[in-house]
Amino acid sequence: MSRFFSRKYADLVPYTPGEEPKEKKFVKLNTNESPFPPSPLAVKMASEAARELMLYPDPDCRTLTAALAEKWNLLPEEIIWTNGSDDVLNFAFMAFCDREHPALFPDITYGFYSVFARVNGIPFQTVPLKEDFSLCVSDYCGRNQTIFIANPNAPTGLCLSTGEIEKILSTNTDSVVVIDEAYVDFGGESCIPLIRKYGNLLVTQTFSKSRSMAGARLGFAAGCPDLIRDLNTIRYSPNPYNNRMTMAAGIGSLRDDAYRAANCEKIIENREYTKKELRRLGFQMTDSKANFVFIRHREISGEDLYCRLKEKGVLVRHFSQDRINDYCRVTIGSREEMDEFLDQCKCILEEI
Ligand code: PMP
Repeated sequence: MSRFFSRKYADLVPYTPGEEPKEKKFVKLNTNESPFPPSPLAVKMASEAARELMLYPDPDCRTLTAALAEKWNLLPEEIIWTNGSDDVLNFAFMAFCDREHPALFPDITYGFYSVFARVNGIPFQTVPLKEDFSLCVSDYCGRNQTIFIANPNAPTGLCLSTGEIEKILSTNTDSVVVIDEAYVDFGGESCIPLIRKYGNLLVTQTFSKSRSMAGARLGFAAGCPDLIRDLNTIRYSPNPYNNRMTMAAGIGSLRDDAYRAANCEKIIENREYTKKELRRLGFQMTDSKANFVFIRHREISGEDLYCRLKEKGVLVRHFSQDRINDYCRVTIGSREEMDEFLDQCKCILEEI
C-alpha cells in the first residue's frame, strides 16, 4: 500500500478472479467460460463496428436494447446495460443498499457480493445455507433488507423455483430483491417475466457464459423503470458508455439466439455425462443446474485434488472458505475436455 492510498480502503480485500496461467496450456475449467466461440454473427458485427471506433458509442445502447426487448417482451426503459453483470451488481449495491437497507445474501454464494458491499461501505449480513447448501426460503421472508440471490447459486449450482422467489418478493415489498441469473440458461427458470408483477425485483444476466462473450464484458439488468432510472443515475456518474464492438457483438448474439440455445444443450448434456462418470468414481456433488459441477471425494481433500489436477494440466477452482474447502468447482467444457478431466481424476484416485 502506498502512503497515498485512501484509509477508506486500507482493509479492503479485493475479489480473487480464477487463475489465468500463461506458462503452459491447461485444460481450463476454472472460470466458467464457454468452450465454444461466440456466434459467427456476433464476431462479424463486432468486426464491422471496429471501423467506427473513432466515435463514442450510443450511451442508451438503443439497437442492443431493442434486440433484448424483443426477446423478453420488455420496454426499453426496463433494461440497463453494463460492462459485464459485475458492474450492474455493483451499481445495485450502490443504489439500493444503505444503513436502513443493509445487504443480505447467503454465506456461500458469489464472492463478489461481499466485496461490493465493502468497497461501497455498505453494511451486510449473510445467512447460512442449509447443510446440503440449499437455501431456506423462509430465512429471506419479511426481512426488508436488500437481498441478493444468485439463481442458480455459485459455486453450488443449486436453483430456486420462481414460486420460491415470488415468496421472497412478496414478503419484502419495501426493499429490492436482486436475482443474479448469470447461469440461468443452463437449467434455471428466469424471473424476467415477473418484473411487471413486482416493482422490487431486479434481474441481472450476463453474456459471459451461455453467449460465449466473457472477454467482451456485457451484462444487463431488467426491472421496473424506476429501478432502472436509479441504476442509470449511478451508471452515468463514472462512465455512461459501453464498448461499441461489445454492443455490436451483443446484437449479433441476440439475433442468433438459436446458436446460444444449441450450445446450452451441449453443455447440459456434457454436465449430466460428467456427473454420471464422477459418481462412478465415487465423487459426491450438488445437483448443479449451471455450467459447472461442485464436487468432493471422501478420499482426497479439495485442495489436494485441485493441486494434483493442476500438475496434470487441468485447472479447476478450489475455494479455501469454511464449509466448502472439501470441494472443487469444475466448469463444464467440451466433451473432449471433460474426458481429459475424468481421465486425470481416475489417475489421481489410483495414485492416492
Ligand atoms: N454472477 C455470478 C454468480 C457469477 O459467477 C459471475 C461470473 N463470475 C457474474 C455474476 C459476473 O459475470 P460477468 O461480470 O462476466 O457478467
